[in-house]
Amino acid sequence: MPLTKRIAVLAGDGVGQEIVPQAVSVLEAVAKRCGHTFTCVYGPVGGEAIDKTGMPLPPETLTLAKGSDAVLLGAVGGPKWEGLNYEQRPERALLGLREQLGLFGNLRPAKLYPELADASTLKREVIEGIDLLVVRELTGGIYFGKPKGIERTEAGLRGINTEVYTEEEITRIAHVAFTAARKRRRLVTSIDKANVLESSELWRQVVTEVHRQYPDVELRHMYVDNCAMQLIRNPRQFDVLLTTNLFGDILSDEAAMLTGSIGMLPSASVGATVGMYEPIHGSAPDIAGKNVANPIGMIASVAMMLRYSFDLEQEAESIERAIQAVLAQGYRTQDIASPGTTVVGTTEMGARILDHLQAGDR
Ligand code: NAD
Repeated sequence: MPLTKRIAVLAGDGVGQEIVPQAVSVLEAVAKRCGHTFTCVYGPVGGEAIDKTGMPLPPETLTLAKGSDAVLLGAVGGPKWEGLNYEQRPERALLGLREQLGLFGNLRPAKLYPELADASTLKREVIEGIDLLVVRELTGGIYFGKPKGIERTEAGLRGINTEVYTEEEITRIAHVAFTAARKRRRLVTSIDKANVLESSELWRQVVTEVHRQYPDVELRHMYVDNCAMQLIRNPRQFDVLLTTNLFGDILSDEAAMLTGSIGMLPSASVGATVGMYEPIHGSAPDIAGKNVANPIGMIASVAMMLRYSFDLEQEAESIERAIQAVLAQGYRTQDIASPGTTVVGTTEMGARILDHLQAGDR
């Protein structure tokens, strides 16, 4: 059924300005092909917004995001704004958007395109075929728990952070993981440290309870230290990895590196109603403005938006197939180039993916 959706497009800084137009072209092509109406509305964010309004997340941009069905974000930050105090820096915009949109879950897929197996530091036979999704709780746990701080005691200074999770926080992120698993291979591995931490004991209990509503999905539990090893030893055993804020921060970076390049990977932040989709990399000031940035992580973020916010699985897959087809033809941006491949710039990579997508019709 044709859908009508409104998407807030926030390109931001550095390479964000170059990769977002490629992603929007892909989105428009999908809309045209499948009869959907996607209206893009644009707003400044990050350093771009500071230059225009003095604020990294101006109220107009926030209103735009809140009034949309999903947000597509490029990247924020750069040396120009590094001298500003913490509250005024471009990166604050991300925290503001997460908080204001109630984004409590972060989804990070790590999928290896077979053509890029040599870009990984691990052996081909270990990483071939990996296709996993880390579901990380984003607004609770030790990063936010209280008490926190550094205090002076008679014995010297003492640093404190508190790992705390409520049943409600665990329940809602568990639903995100089980729902995502239903769009995949139907296996959730919940990661905790229940042999040592009480908060993990509760995590395990609640995840097990929520699982009763998803009898078609398999649930396994694994300790975080074992998971860190298994990701390198046998990553193909995982489908969806469900975990806390702290463990997810670390494991999602580990999983990302299995696939080789930071420019390839998308992410989604989900919560109440409006999801936010962005590549995992930053504004890459060292290569910005040179038409060399890899747009694939950004374009794959559009696929995630179609899958998770709009439930358009076939449209999402058509984008992923187009990416794979262009890689199979040997085209690479410089970050993923290897001997024998053809190096192309940001715009040409985007145009070739678009061509494949449009050719799907013929
Ligand atoms: P970065 O991700 O921007 O870049 C790290 C390295 O990866 C650089 O060598 C860069 O050239 C390369 N790279 C990144 N994206 C690429 C792409 N699409 N194609 C090819 N190569 C790519 O991280 P950084 O250099 O640590 O940070 C730069 C700025 O971005 C900082 O201001 C930082 O705060 C900000 N940042 C923003 C986000 C975000 O917007 N979500 C995330 C991380 C960092």
